[in-house]
Parts: sequence; structure tokens; C-alpha cells
Amino acid sequence: MTTTIYIADYLLPIDAPPIVNGAVAVRGTQIIAVGETAAVRAQLASQPYQTVTLARCALLPGLVNVHTHLELTLLRNYLNNLNFTDWIAQLIKTRAGWTIPELEIAAIYGACEALRAGITTIADTGSSGATLTGMITVGLRGIFYQETFGSDTRQAGKSLALLQTQVADYQAQLAKLPSTRVQVGVSPHAPYSVSAALFQAVAHYAQQEQLPLAIHIAESMAETALIRDGKGVFAEQLRQRGIEVIPQNCSVIQYLADNRVLNVPPLLIHSVQVDDYDLALIKAAGASIAHCPKSNAWFGHGRAPLEKIQDLAIPVALGSDSVASNNLCDLWEEARSALFIHQAANRKIGLTARQLLQMLTLDGAKVLGLATQIGSLTVGKQADFIAVRLDDARHLPIYDIETTLIYCASGQDVCLTVIAGQPIYRDGVISTVNDQAIKTEFQAIAQKLLQQ
Ligand SMILES: [Zn+2]
Repeated sequence: MTTTIYIADYLLPIDAPPIVNGAVAVRGTQIIAVGETAAVRAQLASQPYQTVTLARCALLPGLVNVHTHLELTLLRNYLNNLNFTDWIAQLIKTRAGWTIPELEIAAIYGACEALRAGITTIADTGSSGATLTGMITVGLRGIFYQETFGSDTRQAGKSLALLQTQVADYQAQLAKLPSTRVQVGVSPHAPYSVSAALFQAVAHYAQQEQLPLAIHIAESMAETALIRDGKGVFAEQLRQRGIEVIPQNCSVIQYLADNRVLNVPPLLIHSVQVDDYDLALIKAAGASIAHCPKSNAWFGHGRAPLEKIQDLAIPVALGSDSVASNNLCDLWEEARSALFIHQAANRKIGLTARQLLQMLTLDGAKVLGLATQIGSLTVGKQADFIAVRLDDARHLPIYDIETTLIYCASGQDVCLTVIAGQPIYRDGVISTVNDQAIKTEFQAIAQKLLQQ
């Protein structure tokens, strides 16, 4: 097995301070040495190795995007300037017009976009299995959560049966692969699209099968009004469909607790409309949070209480959400948006560049329960890392590497993405898929929308 030493001007292990002239050594899928270049070379002096020199680059762990919907990549820049409920209705209508092979092209294209921007791990929720295909084809690591829907209590059994069939199919598909970096989870979509009976059934199933569970929760005021008061636009829409709406007189997080969803414990996507009591429930349950600052701002849903979440040491990391409400899958921009959105509200929050780099990497791994495998450049962990080239006008001068990365880097600066020791992306070229052919197909499918 060949040993490769990757050498860069700056190395950011994340679980230790940055190193100038640092190196990481890789054998197979694992990291076998990390440190100053001279020390790593000395440590490996008795064995053959090859070197890859990344001049004017920072080398750091691969980025972890804890909330995506890659099957929706064709909806970038298509559903702008709509309110939340109209956006959802338009999304459902448009998505219904695509075939599974078309959604798969969208997901592969989206996975390539993520890889090019230095994202090595994603947590994706989707209604089709297209993202699973995208992750496997391109070689991303992560969790694909199959969504389930059904606001009518009478549908719960049918929705659960379909979900179980889908999960079994995906697991059989993964079992045939020589190795896999992808796990399957489940996602009861949201309180306005899932009945209490279905929540309980899916929570029970996830616990029994030890499946990860993710849920869109506490995202909008309309969702809170539906659960607490049985009022608002979601309540009206459900009643129009003949579905009974009963006020629960509690927060949506308490509602999850009452329906045993917090027992799993889940990944809570958004968590904007939460108070101190809700956060205490989340903390006690051991749940984690996907913070999506750009998407929350895009809809005007407000600002998640990030400072309180972090003070309580609830695992929290950044998610881009779909490009239908972002409109990019670029975690550098997401981190910068988090910084400015929270500081605009309260300068004292003072998110540091170091904190944000940790959110992009190690905290993301913790949120997904993968911190023993990824998230830092640590001996024994999987070799998931990226190189960011920092020689453009907007990067210089570099006084502090962490500040430069958070305030000035973009996905376009990533020049190398390595997953499980394999350099899958290097200087514009993806090795696992013909992404130029995918791009052509992707644009052809998008053209159909313009012709409607
Ligand atoms: Zn989402």
C-alpha cells in the first residue's frame, strides 16, 4: 500500500492549532501522520512514500454539510420571490414532472458541486432515492434520509410500509457495494406534512432498526401556529383537504417529545422558532441541530438562537439546505452568512473564525455521529481532507490563516478534495464521474422547464 504525504503552506488539524508548513500522511483510507512537514518526513523515513506539494494552499478536513436536498438541484434560481407555502406548492408540482433518471442526474450534478466546493460529507433528505445514487456515483460520504409524508392519520400505516420498503431496497443496494461510506436514515418530513400517528410510527421504527432520523422542525411561524393554536395557513390548507386539526397548546419541540420523536434522538433541521424550554428539551434528549442561516434568511423565517445552542453545548453545524432556497451549495459562504447574520443582530455574539472552521468540520461530524471517523486531521481517522488555494488578490495578505479562510475563501478556491484517501477532485477534474457529460444532461433537463 502506497504512503502519500500531502504538504501545504498551512495545515489546520482542527483538533489542534494551525501549523505553518504542515503535512498529512495517508496510507489506504487512513491518516497515519500529521504535523510539521519535517517531522512527518522524519517519522516516515524508514519507508517509501510519495509526496504531493500544495503550494500556497491551506489543507484542512473535508467540510460537512449537515443539510442538503441534492435531488432539487434543478430548482436553483427557479422558485424565487415566493412565500413559504407557495414555494412548497410550486416545488411539489415541478418535482412531480421529473422522472427518477432526471432526478438522479440532478443529484449527481449536485454531488459534483459539493465535491468541487470541498464538501466531503453530506446529510441529505429526499423524497426519491436519487441522492443515494448521486452520493455513491460521485463518492461522497454521509447519510441519506428517505422522506415520508402523510398528514392524514389514516395514511400512517401505508406511509410507514412504503418507507420500510424503500429503506430495505437502499440497504440491499449498499450491501452489494465492495465498500460504502453512505448510511440510510429516515425523515418524517415536517409537522405540517406528517400526522402524529406517522411521527410515532417512524420514531418507533427508527429506534428499533437504529436508523438515523432527521426532521424539518421549528422552521416557520406558520408551523408553530399550526401545532400550538391549530391556526394559520398550514391549518387552513389541511382543513380544506378534510384533515382534522387539533390545537396542541405546546411548542413544536414539545410536540416531538410527546410523539416520542426526541427519543431517537433526531437531527433537528432549522430549529429557528425555539425558546429556552425547547432548547432544554433538545439538550436533554441528546438531539443535534442543522443550522441553515442562508435558507432561514431567504424565507424570512428569522434567526436560530445559535449563541444559546452553543452555550448549551448542543451539537450544531451548518447546512446549505437545497439550492432552491440558497442558491448555492457552498459552505464557505454559509459560514460567512452565519457570522454576519448573527453579528448583525448582536455584535457580542462574536463568532470567531476558529469556531466557524470547527462548525464546518468537526462539529458537523459530531452532529452526524461520525466524529470518531472524520472531522479532524487526526491519526487513525479517515483521510477526508481538502486543499484551498489562497493566492488570489482577495486572499492577500495572510496574517491569520483562520481569518483568511472564513472571511475570504470560497468553494471555487478548493483545488483538491480527498475522501477516504482517494483524491476524487483535483484542479477542476473529478475522477469518479464524467461531470462534463452530466452537466450537458443537467442543462438539457433544465431547458424543459423553460419551455413550459
Ligand atoms: Zn430542507
